[in-house]
Amino acid sequence: MSLDECMSDATPSVNETMDCPGVSPENGQQSAGRRYDMVIIGAGLAGGLAAFLGAKRGLRVLLIERQSFPRSKVCGCCLNLRAQQLLRQAGLEDGLQQLSPVHTDSMRVQYRGRAIKIPMPGGIVVTRKRMDAWLVSEAVRAGAEFCDDTTAKVLPLEIDTVENASENAVYPPYRTVAITGTGRRRESLDFETGAKGLLQREHRTSPGTLTELVSADVVLVCDGLGHPSLSQLPGFQSRPVPNSRIGLGATFAQTQKNSDYPSREILMAVAQQGYCGMVETEDQQWNLAAAVDSDFLQRCGSPLACLKEIFRSAGVSPPAELDTAGIRGTVPLTRRSSRIAGFRLLLLGDSTGYVEPFTGEGMAWAMTAATLALPLAMRGLAAPWSREIEHEFLRQMKTCVAREQGVCRALSAILSHPLLLRLTFTGASLFPLVTQQLVRRVNRLPPLLE
Ligand SMILES: Cc1cc2nc3c(=O)[nH]c(=O)nc-3n(C[C@H](O)[C@H](O)[C@H](O)COP(=O)(O)OP(=O)(O)OC[C@H]3O[C@@H](n4cnc5c(N)ncnc54)[C@H](O)[C@@H]3O)c2cc1C
Repeated sequence: MSLDECMSDATPSVNETMDCPGVSPENGQQSAGRRYDMVIIGAGLAGGLAAFLGAKRGLRVLLIERQSFPRSKVCGCCLNLRAQQLLRQAGLEDGLQQLSPVHTDSMRVQYRGRAIKIPMPGGIVVTRKRMDAWLVSEAVRAGAEFCDDTTAKVLPLEIDTVENASENAVYPPYRTVAITGTGRRRESLDFETGAKGLLQREHRTSPGTLTELVSADVVLVCDGLGHPSLSQLPGFQSRPVPNSRIGLGATFAQTQKNSDYPSREILMAVAQQGYCGMVETEDQQWNLAAAVDSDFLQRCGSPLACLKEIFRSAGVSPPAELDTAGIRGTVPLTRRSSRIAGFRLLLLGDSTGYVEPFTGEGMAWAMTAATLALPLAMRGLAAPWSREIEHEFLRQMKTCVAREQGVCRALSAILSHPLLLRLTFTGASLFPLVTQQLVRRVNRLPPLLE
């Protein structure tokens, strides 16, 4: 089988040896390419934390990232209490403080010229460019190999299509991933300057695109919205829900002081067609992140016009600097994944589906999944993979992530319905304790992780 065939949609039989370059016998087993305990696809917060936790436990970890690091990402950049607690538990508290995060204590929700202030003590804000690069740098320091500018695709196996695999069936003790790009392994990453060290033994004279196979006992899929690395796997689909919103984001320096945007406060401008959050970041810039209806975006004619219209409708003046800021967009946001676990495969973070965050839960959910996945993935190392691992992962994700997502899903449904939105806004102004209770609920660490 040629490399191209390995990358094709054909599903090799699990009992078939794949005859690809790089396939070498190891410990009596056929293994495709260089072998790792864990290959992690995507260096966002799910992938970065999983790589750190795995390397710290002495595992051979390869973290693969499609973009060149450090990279920006459309995100509100607000880390809630749960996210901070998970980093603390991982032993990363000191590093987090060295990022000099901005501390926030409240969110001001602005709708049709009225405002309500929701206390949210203990929140912090760090740009994703620095946050994600810092986490990767910690993973590399702990011993993980990091490979950016490189795209990964998980190769399919027959077992991916088998619903109830026989207990007696023999499956390979690894999963194979094809990687395309520079393939360079980094030995260091300076998250402040972006400087990257190169593992000498990996140095390649031609920096061109190459395809290489690597294999691992367990693959963690942390590649975000739509899980593109699983496009060849039957049964693993990620579909946007109807009327899914589009994400928009921008960062800009504030040249004029504006009393509409006080420090330490998250501003949330809400309109019927979407909402837009804005907050000051640790580098004295402003980060803006929005989720908007796609037909509204089309009607407005441009992302800039769309954002300005949301500010105007909420009754806040849009920041003047927005006119010249580069605005980035995302694919349709809200989506569901048909499966979040498979043979030697666990999905984490946004790759499991996306639910619009309420007060910045997305990063906490991604890190929760990484924390849950690690001990379970380790059960699959050098041992027969069991469906029980997949079921346990599903159970834990349901308890620790899906329940909170239910609260946010309900809230985002309300926010896109004009009458319910008005009633909720009035209710939140009249009963602030209920709102605070909701915030506390999605912020707390689930008992399983305490
Ligand atoms: C508008 C908006 C505002 C938000 N605000 C907040 C907020 O304030 N607080 C909060 O907690 N959450 C927020 N979120 C949610 C948060 O951004 C996500 O939930 C979080 O980033 C998920 O992390 P992740 O690691 O799963 O994925 P990501 O952070 O998306 O990382 C995935 C990585 O995988 C890489 N990748 C993709 N495909 C491949 C491939 N084939 N091979 C290799 N690499 C690949 C990508 O380049 C990317 O770096 C917001 C989201 C949006 C859209």
